[in-house]
Amino acid sequence: MKFNTKTIHGKQEHDKAYGAVMPPIYQTSTYAQTTPGEHKGYEYSRTHNPTRHALENALASIENGEFGLAFGSGLAAIDAVMKMLKPGDEVISTNDLYGGTYRLFTSIYEGFGIKFNFIGMQEAGNIEKYITPNTKLIWVETPTNPMLNIIDIKAAATVAKKHHILLAVDNTFATPYLQRPLDLGADIVMHSATKYIGGHSDLVMGALIAKDKEVADKLYFIQNASGAVCGPQDSFLALRGIKTLHVRMQRHCENGKAVAVYLANHPKVENVYWPGFTSHPNHEIAKMQMSDFGGMLSFTTKGNDFEAAIKIVEKLKIFTLAESLGGVESLCGHPASMTHASIPKIEREKTGVVDSLIRLSVGIEDIEDLLADLEQALR
Ligand SMILES: *Cc1c(COP(=O)(O)O)cnc(C)c1O
Repeated sequence: MKFNTKTIHGKQEHDKAYGAVMPPIYQTSTYAQTTPGEHKGYEYSRTHNPTRHALENALASIENGEFGLAFGSGLAAIDAVMKMLKPGDEVISTNDLYGGTYRLFTSIYEGFGIKFNFIGMQEAGNIEKYITPNTKLIWVETPTNPMLNIIDIKAAATVAKKHHILLAVDNTFATPYLQRPLDLGADIVMHSATKYIGGHSDLVMGALIAKDKEVADKLYFIQNASGAVCGPQDSFLALRGIKTLHVRMQRHCENGKAVAVYLANHPKVENVYWPGFTSHPNHEIAKMQMSDFGGMLSFTTKGNDFEAAIKIVEKLKIFTLAESLGGVESLCGHPASMTHASIPKIEREKTGVVDSLIRLSVGIEDIEDLLADLEQALR
């Protein structure tokens, strides 16, 4: 089965009770037993729920994995991966990382005795230098947020395999439509399904996908033991989102490219960060591991003026000023005053988050309207 067919049919079956084509929303916490321990495969909805199960199968299918797990948020999914570790273990992680992931690692798990090395991974050769006998996990996010850096997943996987370390990849920005980390050698794929997987800005959810049964069994144990699962209603919505992932992503990519090219030629724009440009430092790796370049991009304006950037995001009308990304509607954000406001100016500027940086999540509206909106705001 090819990818677009998988989004609709992958590991899916019609409902056993009445043949419903879409899995019903099994809004139940528990399931009747005929005699203790005898039931139809479901006992309690933290452990298992048929609607969530259908979603987890779909997630496994589109990522070319064997096992899918859905959680109450992206961070709950990352939290489950971290619970595979023990005090004294070390993690090597991408340095320009989703802020919430950084907070979880440093504010919670450092306190539990886990050591983190946050390093630049644009040169994958960097990773090996930080490996010690205690290194148990490599955490990769690519493309990164908000600078759209690209990390070579295959190269990271080669290092991880050589040293018997788990490799987890946050695939939220790319989605399996563009990039399938398990095929490139990763052990675990993670998603904030809140973003492109759900795709309609109407739910908060996380996902993990694995290929290896031993890894998956550990994660299933943690999912049930810690209990950060998602409900059946959200599972249904995410499953519905997956069915149109390919057509949405196709348009996100087309519009993303048109906006990137438009901004690159605009007299008021200084830099545009988008992996599709041949001038992007890791464009060749992006071309190798992604089938297109996605709908996320960032740009800076000439003069790098904080106030001017604020004015632009206020003036944009179709691009809504909001946190999050990956929905059908276009969004804009100003990292220096929003997602990265808590990071000291000197620190954030080291990774490129300067005062005038604006991040766009390009939606699937008509491109003429999106460009006209940018034109009036930049003017
Ligand atoms: C949003 C996001 C997360 C966190 O997911 P939530 O669903 O908000 O908990 C993690 N990684 C990336 C890249 C994200 O964009």
